[in-house]
Amino acid sequence: MKSFAVLQLSSCAGCEVALLNADEWVDHYRLAYMPLVSSTHNLPAVDLLFVSGSVRTDDDLHNLRKAVRQAGEVIAVGTCAISGGVAHLGDRDEVRSLFLAQESRRHVPRLLPKSHPVDEWVPVDRYLPGCPPTPELFLAALTDQEDFKSASSVCQECGRHKDKEIRPTHLSGFMRGSVDPELCLVNQGYLCIGTSTRAGCRALCTRPGHPCVGCRGPSNAFIEKESSAWLASILRVFTTMTDIPVEELEQALRSPQLAMFLFQFSDYDELHRKPRSKDKVI
Ligand code: SF4
Ligand code: SF4
Repeated sequence: MKSFAVLQLSSCAGCEVALLNADEWVDHYRLAYMPLVSSTHNLPAVDLLFVSGSVRTDDDLHNLRKAVRQAGEVIAVGTCAISGGVAHLGDRDEVRSLFLAQESRRHVPRLLPKSHPVDEWVPVDRYLPGCPPTPELFLAALTDQEDFKSASSVCQECGRHKDKEIRPTHLSGFMRGSVDPELCLVNQGYLCIGTSTRAGCRALCTRPGHPCVGCRGPSNAFIEKESSAWLASILRVFTTMTDIPVEELEQALRSPQLAMFLFQFSDYDELHRKPRSKDKVI
């Protein structure tokens, strides 16, 4: 039986909870290390290592380098490990100054100047995006990936219908007002970016009426392009389907809710990282 481990860096443990919900791996894999559920102190050599969370502290970096040396395959899991996610929001000046005001307390970990995605420090074999990835996606990563088929964009998994005649003139906000259960959320003025977001989540948010914020990252068409290509595609959808002013859209796309997720694969040009291959993304 193959073994796997989960190394959690700076993150919220949501990825670990989603993995535990995918309990079918119990028959196929032996969990060798996962601080959330096991009492083992040292990470042993394993066939597969999931890394969740961003590299935010010197402890994160030390633990990551040590773990990767003993792992057969490395999979970066979740938005934090891939683009910074929740931890990356701490790079915003106002959040950072609040945190550093507590620096004299001894339990505050030593921060790196910025948060970093995992592949800025170690080689990553595959990526499993999502905040968190669904249990089904974890199973796809653990078992034969060929068995897993997902549509190319969240729209294709969503099932809501688009109506050319309904053109909102302003955004409706994130989760405000009543939502038509059948109609595309863009037709209802919601900032849903499912059109160019990677599928695989079975449109978990949009089917009950919450706009997709893009936690699965860009669809294949945009992964190997600059972040501006993804942004331009989202804007194009809204200018085609609505009469909402571009300035209003651009401002909303840079809001903190979306800033956590947007550009998680296509920002390598800004961060001087190497391009990520779409073939490595689950
Ligand atoms: S834009 Fe959003 S609501 Fe509309 S079909 Fe796509 S995923 Fe569904
Ligand atoms: S619908 Fe969008 S935000 Fe929701 S889980 Fe899927 S990709 Fe993530």
